Amino acid sequence: MAGPRPVRAPRGTELTTRGWQQEAALRMLQNNLDPEVAEHPDKLVVYGGTGKAARDWRSFDAMVRTLQTLKADETMLVQSGRPVGVMQTHEWAPRVLLANSNLVGDWANWEEFRRLEQLGLTMYGQMTAGSWIYIGTQGILQGTYETFSAVAARKFGGTLAGTLTLTAGLGGMGGAQPLAVTMNDGVVICVECDPSRIERRIEHGYLDVRADSLEHALQLATEARDARRPLSVGLLGNAAEVLPRMLERDAPIDIVTDQTSAHDPLAYLPVGVDFADMADYAAEKPAEFTQRAQESMARHVEAMVGFMDAGAEVFDYGNSIRGEARTAGYTRAFDFPGFVPAYIRPLFCEGKGPFRWAALSGDPKDIAATDKAILDLFPENESLARWIRMAGERVRFQGLPARICWLGYGERDRAGERFNDMVASGEISAPLALGRDHLDCGSVASPYRETESMLDGSDAIADWPLLNAMVNVSSGASWVSLHHGGGVGMGRSIHAGQVTVADGTALAGEKLRRVLTNDPGMGVIRHVDAGYERADAVAAERGVRVPMREG
Ligand code: NAD
Repeated sequence: MAGPRPVRAPRGTELTTRGWQQEAALRMLQNNLDPEVAEHPDKLVVYGGTGKAARDWRSFDAMVRTLQTLKADETMLVQSGRPVGVMQTHEWAPRVLLANSNLVGDWANWEEFRRLEQLGLTMYGQMTAGSWIYIGTQGILQGTYETFSAVAARKFGGTLAGTLTLTAGLGGMGGAQPLAVTMNDGVVICVECDPSRIERRIEHGYLDVRADSLEHALQLATEARDARRPLSVGLLGNAAEVLPRMLERDAPIDIVTDQTSAHDPLAYLPVGVDFADMADYAAEKPAEFTQRAQESMARHVEAMVGFMDAGAEVFDYGNSIRGEARTAGYTRAFDFPGFVPAYIRPLFCEGKGPFRWAALSGDPKDIAATDKAILDLFPENESLARWIRMAGERVRFQGLPARICWLGYGERDRAGERFNDMVASGEISAPLALGRDHLDCGSVASPYRETESMLDGSDAIADWPLLNAMVNVSSGASWVSLHHGGGVGMGRSIHAGQVTVADGTALAGEKLRRVLTNDPGMGVIRHVDAGYERADAVAAERGVRVPMREG
């Protein structure tokens, strides 16, 4: 019986499959499970609570085997992490189509999901775990950096120097928070209940130091803040206990947010439970655990509201903690906003979102070449240039070298075509996989996150991610995925993803031009339709056709 083992994608220019489209899917699947990349690779868990890349090890082996022999006019179908069929299609069709964690509306809750998961019928795909385009903590770093920059611009005169942020969760995504704050020159205390996550972030260069106690954390943080010196401090503890204690003692906190895995109550440590007992307790008594976790989240959110009342800038960072706290009976849970309406929506109106690419060669020089190409392509964009330079200096790659880079409508296609030309000319040594997070401008319906407080009230309309997936299939993407429940949990989101391979051929160039125009184009039309003036202006300036604006 196949079981856990270390997985690592092949490097270099030699194919182990029948073509680069298949090879890219294979390497990115394997890369998602590389111990350097995945949070818990032995359980096939990549990030975000239990977000997995394959349902079980047998399914993983079957996907690897199938990709190794898949022809250029065939498509492998993946149903929640298990390969269920291979069909003849054509060369413009995706080589892989994935549907993860989808349940019919009335059944779309954690209880039913877990029942089906236990029967071996489904898996939780999160966003980029089950769609094979997770690139480690860097994947969220630029978005987190931009969010904290927006906070700095709005409230603190453009810099976080001299401010103190309090947050929790140092997992796959949350681990980006300390570096994002220090990149904005601020000081941050990050509460985390798993000591190994604190060590991992220090080892990867995302977190600076670990404090011995709450007092020690506050002392280190206030000293650095007073000296206007950036510093990130990890503090071992349960956020539902530490935040109320910090509030009680009037800790001088300026900004509060959270990235514990609150979207999944079985992945949030309740007060009074030892971290060492968490997994067994959650498995043995899921209902009791859920209730205790939700009660703890209510205390956690109550403290966040307390900080807000005391004048701090407080926001939900996309983990559904407000929803869980409200379920537990805390009525003021939604008094503070989610980060998308607060800081990110104007970017979505321009089709901007977490575009990224990975070098299939494994050679960091290929990413350096793409960084340079981005600087050449968009010389007028200063904040982009600042990001690319800072990322080049401070981001350590996990697994295959990769770069996250928020680009908008009219930009992603230019980058894609340039990269493809560079692969063709040999400037880049092997093909690149170009994809994105599902947390994008036009690919997700998620009323507690990406589509919270839409101008026209269309928060829960889920036609958009379905159209997005169909558009990407029709435009030539290499693999396309349609998921449920990512980020915020079962019943709360539907979202789609795509990855397209730049292999240096003319055909890939044509596919990239279409996909990387149409995919962000969905973001522009989504926001035009909802009545956003900025999206309307972008559509008019950049020639996005919207029938209801014509005639
Ligand atoms: P993860 O599961 O890798 O990490 C969560 C961390 O929270 C773990 O290290 C866990 O030990 C810690 N934790 C759990 N309960 C705790 C408690 N009571 N006190 C202190 N620490 C606790 O998840 P992740 O990938 O880092 O994602 C975190 C959350 O953010 C998820 O809910 C995810 O869906 C959401 N998310 C947000 C964004 C965004 O853009 N804001 C993007 C992706 C994911």
